[in-house]
Amino acid sequence: MRARVTRAFSFEAAHHLPWHPGRCRRLHGHHYRLEVTVEGPVGPDGMVVDFDRIKQVVERDVVDRFDHRLLNDFIDNPTAELVAAEVWKMVEAGGLTVAGIRLWETPDSWVELLPG
Ligand SMILES: [Zn+2]
Repeated sequence: MRARVTRAFSFEAAHHLPWHPGRCRRLHGHHYRLEVTVEGPVGPDGMVVDFDRIKQVVERDVVDRFDHRLLNDFIDNPTAELVAAEVWKMVEAGGLTVAGIRLWETPDSWVELLPG
């Protein structure tokens, strides 16, 4: 049996998109919601991965790094897509095999990044 396990996080960060023709070119902030999904076989302990393990990696490697920061200091063009791609790399570098990332910029706008 295989399963997908997801844990949600949130952080506050600023960004601006200098090339953007609209209001996104101006410096502004978002309350980002982040969902990290790990997929795999359910092991003998009945788990794919411990929720606490996801929390440990994502808080240390993503949330603590981005919270109350300017995302342009880390990513050249911090669109939701490219922030999600950076999150994917950071979480995998932390030792988890990511199956999907969802990043919400606002309560009604999000990006879903898929493997491949
Ligand atoms: Zn924005």
